Amino acid sequence: MSAEFLAALGDVPVVTEPAIVRRKSRDFYWYSPLLKAALDGLTASCVVTPRDTGDVLTIARAARATGTCLTPRGGGTGNYGQAVPLKGGAVVDMSGLDQLLWVRDGVARVQAGMNMLAMDRALHEYGCELRMFPSTKRTATIGGFICGGSGGIGSVAWGGLRCPGNVLAAQIVSMEDGPKIVELSGRDTQVINHAYGTTGLVTEVEVPVAPRVAWEDIAVSFSTLSEAVTFARSLAMQSGIDKKLVSVADGGLVPFFAPLRDHVPSGHAVVLLMIAPSGAATTVELAKAAGGAVYYRAGTAEAEDDPGRVPLYELTWNHTTLQVLKKDRGYTYLQAGFPPRGTVDLVMEMARLLPPEEMMTHLEFMLMDGEMSCAGLPVIRFTTPERLNEIIRLYEEHGVLIVNPHVYTIEDGGPHRVVSPALAADKRRFDPDGLLNPGKMRSFGQV
Ligand code: FAD
Repeated sequence: MSAEFLAALGDVPVVTEPAIVRRKSRDFYWYSPLLKAALDGLTASCVVTPRDTGDVLTIARAARATGTCLTPRGGGTGNYGQAVPLKGGAVVDMSGLDQLLWVRDGVARVQAGMNMLAMDRALHEYGCELRMFPSTKRTATIGGFICGGSGGIGSVAWGGLRCPGNVLAAQIVSMEDGPKIVELSGRDTQVINHAYGTTGLVTEVEVPVAPRVAWEDIAVSFSTLSEAVTFARSLAMQSGIDKKLVSVADGGLVPFFAPLRDHVPSGHAVVLLMIAPSGAATTVELAKAAGGAVYYRAGTAEAEDDPGRVPLYELTWNHTTLQVLKKDRGYTYLQAGFPPRGTVDLVMEMARLLPPEEMMTHLEFMLMDGEMSCAGLPVIRFTTPERLNEIIRLYEEHGVLIVNPHVYTIEDGGPHRVVSPALAADKRRFDPDGLLNPGKMRSFGQV
């Protein structure tokens, strides 16, 4: 770390203590044995912690003047090493920018480092709530979610983060010659969406919020996976039922779910739901009619507020994989996109092709472009990189899209293996020297 960079920071808080810097240079990349091998041990030289946008500008100017690489960081819960500095430099811990700025007409403006649970609680004061959040709500930041995430709890009603209308505006500090504060709105916010912080340090975001609902966690078991998937898809499509989460886990996963395993008959698949009180009785009725057994009901907020309990959403999305990894590090996962038509048949075909010892089915329903799609996060027993690639190919050959979570560049993780020309142009404009999270946008020249 250059003394010039540290001197140019002025009074911006900075930490160089190696143990802290190492910890803040990691995220959840270790879910992937391939990323673990590639990224273990990579570390920045210091962590800078801006207190406001002025501090972020100071950091950007100091980095620009001294050629120092910057890796932004929110809660550090990303899965693809997004927040791991590949080329040293400084980690910029954005979590000090943690204020809700305003709420009006169903829109909230917030500083990008605000923790998502804190944001949701602050929204409750206005009778509102987050429309969408990752299952890491307790630790993730809103800026990290937009820059590194894709969707989550709420996606069954609102789609993915990339869907128009889910991010309304953002303020970034650019790394142009003479760093600037830039306001982005509408589709222009796509420049930061899932761009791993390579196109700007995000200081504020504006997102739509929804009226607050007292969600109810409901878990239903079915004796077969096919019944569970059929019921989940049909419930997800019921427009009369207000829902926030529709998730399916096959019978092999249930023993890893501490709050549920003693209640569900061995081998039974489960459907995990968050339903508004107005739809709870209808949901139970439909579940029973479909042959399901409702064995768990609790208020989501009560479970979230009680440190001894787990809201059902912490068994879904990539928390499903985490529940397994807590017990057995021999597993990993994939990210799959099932088409909206023929979903149940295709899910069952993949379950037939891959034996239960190797693949456990896990699905999350999402409303995408007006159609009910389904994201799969199958939990995979890892043997060799070659076998993992064979499994990826098998999914792809059957028309299932794979978003590979075992790579750390934006291109390799995306379905098209390239960044859009618009994103590449914005990268050249906002970070011409390639100092932001270098190495993550493969097609852009390295520092
Ligand atoms: P970080 O991990 O700190 O950062 C993510 C990326 O954004 C990095 O590239 C970082 O450089 C960049 N970044 C962070 N803040 C800024 C900023 N202010 N300006 C510019 N760049 C920035 N993801 C989902 O989409 N949905 C899920 O349901 C979900 N569930 C998960 C469950 C588990 C158990 C785990 C480990 C991960 C899960 N993830 C999920 C991935 C991850 O938790 C989310 O994407 C999360 O929202 C990331 O937020 P963060 O604050 O931790 O970001």
